[in-house]
Amino acid sequence: MSILHGFYFAFGLVVGSFLNVCICRIPRGESVVSPRSHCPGCGAAIRPHDNVPLLSYLLLHGRCRSCGESISLQYPVVELATGLLFYACAAEWAFTPPTFVYSLFLALLVILVFVDYQHQILPNVVTIPGTIAGILLSPWQAEGTSRDFLSVAAASALNPDGYETLLPWVGSVLGALIGGGILLVVGFAYQLVRRRAGLGMGDVKMMAMVGAFLGWRSALLTIFAGSFAGSIIGLFLIMFKGKNLQHKLAFGTFLGTGAAAVLFFGASFLGWYAGPR
Ligand SMILES: [Zn+2]
Repeated sequence: MSILHGFYFAFGLVVGSFLNVCICRIPRGESVVSPRSHCPGCGAAIRPHDNVPLLSYLLLHGRCRSCGESISLQYPVVELATGLLFYACAAEWAFTPPTFVYSLFLALLVILVFVDYQHQILPNVVTIPGTIAGILLSPWQAEGTSRDFLSVAAASALNPDGYETLLPWVGSVLGALIGGGILLVVGFAYQLVRRRAGLGMGDVKMMAMVGAFLGWRSALLTIFAGSFAGSIIGLFLIMFKGKNLQHKLAFGTFLGTGAAAVLFFGASFLGWYAGPR
């Protein structure tokens, strides 16, 4: 851990503070830039020295300075989570380009996880630009993201002599198509069998974004991880909280957490699964 890692953690806290604004305002269709933040209790503008990530929450004991209304725990949780995720990116990729590409990816996931948890929606203004960003940034993703038989075969078919330069782009586009496509097919099949909508198009677009950043193998792993975690939590709710099967769990919240786990641990899992080479 260097001083640079510490700065990047602090930068993550500041970004997390902005993500809180996005999480609150995007579902309401409001601008994330203006006006300045206000207390939802009394409407008082939040002064800059009360808007320091994490520290202000601790110093104010989680209450508004003007009216004493308690501040949602979401604010420090999102700030700390973003700080730690940014730190993890710096530690994993040592400030090479993937550090910044995946910091952006994780910031988008944080918005989706919290918005879906609170509102059961995955806004297009996050998932669609996110998918495009994933494809555009593919040359700066980690080595090996698209180094799979399908992407190599497709890139070689398109350009046999220079497939290496084409590979990241092909891998990212394939990731978006397969990641989103699998959920589209599963949702359509569910609708045929159960005669009601199972998955939203928001989940499909979110998985297209995950595939664009991580490639199709990690997208599949994310769907497995998200479904597995969702089933465990769902069973727990049915057994201990008396919720019935129709109770809607926010699938995007599980997919987002799964994608973050796959980003950091998926390569070793896939390597282990494929066996020693
Ligand atoms: Zn207030």
